[in-house]
Amino acid sequence: MLRTIILLVSVFCATTGLANPHWRFEDRFSNSEKERLQIWVLRADQGMQSLFGELPYRYSVHFHRSTRGKGPTPWAHTDKRRGRAVHFHVNTSYSSKVFEKDWTVSHELSHLMFPYIGRQGKWFAEGLASYLQYQIMFSADSVTWKQATNKLEERFRAARNTRDYKNLSIVDLSLVASHKGPFVRLYWGGAAYFMNADKALYELTGQRLTGVIAMYLQCCVYNDIQSAEEMISLFDNVSNTKVFSRVYKQTVNRKEFPETDRALKWLKLNPPELLQ
Ligand SMILES: [Zn+2]
Repeated sequence: MLRTIILLVSVFCATTGLANPHWRFEDRFSNSEKERLQIWVLRADQGMQSLFGELPYRYSVHFHRSTRGKGPTPWAHTDKRRGRAVHFHVNTSYSSKVFEKDWTVSHELSHLMFPYIGRQGKWFAEGLASYLQYQIMFSADSVTWKQATNKLEERFRAARNTRDYKNLSIVDLSLVASHKGPFVRLYWGGAAYFMNADKALYELTGQRLTGVIAMYLQCCVYNDIQSAEEMISLFDNVSNTKVFSRVYKQTVNRKEFPETDRALKWLKLNPPELLQ
């Protein structure tokens, strides 16, 4: 814990107005609110760096004030049209502790690592961010590994139990998802793909998904990639395997919800390696 606080303070000092991220307060916030929000983001940023190494891009963080909706961040999204930006609509009446336990910042920062791959690729983009969000929270010391994997288990159960859209594969669901019900199935069906790929990769080569993403960030983060298929083949190339294309055929490209019990059992015993 002390280590984290020291890291946070040093990152905070090092980045204010200089390096990552660029801060943009779009509404009026007090200085203590600004500091609280910055520390919230920097904690997740530090968690990302512990998993993936130094991030090879700059990004901006925009804060908007929100009093509607539920929770500390009722709404957030990324914008990758010009550079990398993330927008958080925040309700600062919630405590720092509540912000720390909220997954939104980890989810959105993980989106910034990957290109926009269109509506058809939604299962891939959202599945990856959903799979990584609790790992980033674990890496940032915001949750234990047990809490992280219990949350995953809850999410998979809810997604599997959704009544509608059982006749569609997770991939095909990308094109019809426009409200909450299918989103749950889409996001966590996509996350199940990455969990199964992570396990298969580890069993075949000893590599982890986080390690593959770290290599992708070094070699290929600026590649012109426009689809989930291109991302899958890039991850195959970076890992020097066929795991990502093989697991695709075995999971999200089929009509039934992907298997999660065996992979989750494995994941519980195998937290991702932290670099620092
Ligand atoms: Zn998302």
